[in-house]
Amino acid sequence: MNPRPRRLKLLRFLPNGWLATSGPAVAGRSLYLTFDDGPHPGFTPALLDLLAEHDAKASFFLVGREVERHGGLARRIAAEGHTLGNHSYSHPLFESLTLAQQMDEIARTERLLHGIDGRARHAFRPPRGVLTLPMLARLVSRRQRIDYWSYDSLDYSRRPVPELLETIRRYPPRDGDIILMHDDSEHSLQLLRELLPAWKAQGFVLRALPLAH
Ligand SMILES: [Zn+2]
Repeated sequence: MNPRPRRLKLLRFLPNGWLATSGPAVAGRSLYLTFDDGPHPGFTPALLDLLAEHDAKASFFLVGREVERHGGLARRIAAEGHTLGNHSYSHPLFESLTLAQQMDEIARTERLLHGIDGRARHAFRPPRGVLTLPMLARLVSRRQRIDYWSYDSLDYSRRPVPELLETIRRYPPRDGDIILMHDDSEHSLQLLRELLPAWKAQGFVLRALPLAH
């Protein structure tokens, strides 16, 4: 299994300001960790502790319904210097929704995130990476950035963590990669306990994706 999604070859032709498939160019080597599907009371707190321990910043693409349930945790993520992104309200199958329903999922979560960090706009990451052309056109016209990823940790696959680590070591992430992970299971935590010290030793700085304007 290769962590670089095939779909990316097409998406990379779109401007990064519409649909980000890599982090911004900055001095030094950077990796952009992203966590989808939280906040989760069972896993997110330990993940935040681990990130703080390694002085790592990241981006969290939150599910609106979970923000309603665990608002304190969402506030903690923002307070610790990570950025919040929009991962829909209920994580539905977007391809089975109308455009109006898709936009409603996004708008509901925008309002919730605004209540947490006070920002008017957040980058959107579609559930399961499903992008439809009408949705893409609508988001571009609203100047709402879509944050995709360039590197899939495969942490949601049912493969054991040592096997995932082996794959990641065989195909290591590169400067500017946006790494897809999830904080609704302990896999990301187990992976990062090994990977964060190794990446730091290789000179990588772990950064949050830029805020949406
Ligand atoms: Zn998701």
